[in-house]
Amino acid sequence: MFGNYMYYNTAYLIYLLPGLILGLYAQAKVKGAFAEYSKKESGGNFTGASLARKILDDHGLSHVPVNQVPGNLTDFYNPQDETLHLSQGVYGKSSVAALAVAAHECGHAIQDAEDYKPLRIRSWLVPAAQFGSNFAYILVFVGLIFSNFLTNLGIALYAIAVLFTLVTLPVEYNASSRAKNILATLLPSGDQKGVHKMLDAAALTYVASLVSALGTLLRLMAISNNRRN
Ligand SMILES: [Zn+2]
Repeated sequence: MFGNYMYYNTAYLIYLLPGLILGLYAQAKVKGAFAEYSKKESGGNFTGASLARKILDDHGLSHVPVNQVPGNLTDFYNPQDETLHLSQGVYGKSSVAALAVAAHECGHAIQDAEDYKPLRIRSWLVPAAQFGSNFAYILVFVGLIFSNFLTNLGIALYAIAVLFTLVTLPVEYNASSRAKNILATLLPSGDQKGVHKMLDAAALTYVASLVSALGTLLRLMAISNNRRN
C-alpha cells in the first residue's frame, strides 16, 4: 500500500515537465522584457497612470478610478467594482514597459464595458476553478483508496481549472491587441517595438499556464487509469 502511494507520487511527473519548462521560459522572457523596456523612456508624454486615465476617458470610462498597488507586475483590473490597479513600477513611470502594462489593463476595462463574453465566462469560472485546483489532488488520491466516484469528481473539478486557463487566453490576447492598437495612435513609432515585445512575452505566460494545467489533468487521469487496470 505505502509502496503504491510512493509510486503514484513519483510516476507521471513527466506530464508536468512541459508546463514547467515553458513556464520558466515565459517568466524569464517577461522579466527580461520588463527589465529592458522599463529602462527605455517612452517618447510620449505619459505616465502609466495618466495614460490609463486618458484611455479610460476616451472610451467613456471616466467612472473607473486608477489606483496604485504595491508590488512588481501586480497590475490588474477588477470587474467586480470596476477599478483599475497599477503597480509601483507602472503607476508613476513613463517607461515603454510601464505604458504597455497600463494600456493592457485598460484593455480589460474596455472588455468589461463592452460585455466581452470570454471575460464574463472567465469571471464565472473563477470560484469552481479555484476550488478545483485546490482540492482535485486530495479527491483523486482519497478516491483511489475509497471510491472511483471521488476520483472522477476530482478529475472533473480539475477539468474546470483547465477550462479556466483556456478561456484566459482569448481574454489576455484580446486585451493586448486592444492595447497595441490604442498605443499605435498615442505613442511615437519608436515605442511600438517595445510595446509589442512586452505584451507578447506576457501572453506567453498564459500559454504556459494552460500547458501546465493540461499536464496536471493528464497526470491525474493516468494515475486513475493505472489504478483501475
Ligand atoms: Zn491581462
